Amino acid sequence: MKQMFSLRDKKSFFKDNADSNATYSARQLVLRSYLKAVVICMALCLLLSSCGVSKDNSHEPMKGVVRDKTSHSDEVETEPPAPEIPRKGITVCVDPGHGFEDGGTSSELLGDVLEKDITLSVAKKLKVHLETYGFDVIMLHDGKTFPIAPNDDGNNRFRPEERTAYANSIADKIDYYIAIHCNSFEMPEVYGAEVYYVEDSVKNTYGDVEIAMTLAGQLTSDFPEWKANAKIFPYYVIRYTHFPASLIEMGYVTNEGDAAKMLDEAWQDSFALSLAKGLDQYYSDETNNNSN
Ligand SMILES: [Zn+2]
Repeated sequence: MKQMFSLRDKKSFFKDNADSNATYSARQLVLRSYLKAVVICMALCLLLSSCGVSKDNSHEPMKGVVRDKTSHSDEVETEPPAPEIPRKGITVCVDPGHGFEDGGTSSELLGDVLEKDITLSVAKKLKVHLETYGFDVIMLHDGKTFPIAPNDDGNNRFRPEERTAYANSIADKIDYYIAIHCNSFEMPEVYGAEVYYVEDSVKNTYGDVEIAMTLAGQLTSDFPEWKANAKIFPYYVIRYTHFPASLIEMGYVTNEGDAAKMLDEAWQDSFALSLAKGLDQYYSDETNNNSN
């Protein structure tokens, strides 16, 4: 039994050994094949990912390798280029009423705020909106640097005569001039905006009336519960400038409702936007009419 066992054991040993060798070789083959398959899979995956092919393309761009992603994220970190706004070829000179030692009108409804503070704030907002509509903008002053006009009298008040002379000295750069002011009146119930103009024939310019009408119309449309009228009055800066011009009285500092509006930055922005929309409309129509 012992021998038989041992024979059997031997046989079984060899058989087992052979089997085990065979099994080992087979396992080795399977393992090698498996490893090969894994390597091929990995290579394929790398290849596919480098080609930008991904099942979930909601997160990955269809094109572009890792390097592109890095450069893209670099672009995001730096300031993205501003979108090109088509220019109109029209330069608007924005005149913030008063300024420097000339505070303009005041009212207890405004507290410590002066007309010059409101006009400068609205003028800056108007500049931004006009540029968005493709206008070029010249600010007559920024409230900090005093512009020296040819007729400067040495005082730190930018008089209407100085403003006009200064703007006329760069008339070749200006297509249209808009002065921003706040109104006041002894009767507190008087409210609303006014767009002042001088007739074209008086000034020998073209567009003053039409622009004033368009601006008043736009303000009425944007602020339907309010009122905005175009009116004739020969304010110096719109009478003697050598280009079409309007003077805007935004509202009455002596009226509670108007004063509250003019102190409100959001309202100032809406008002400035409305003016920019009106000018955009006028100059778009003018371009269309000229091209027809
Ligand atoms: Zn004023």
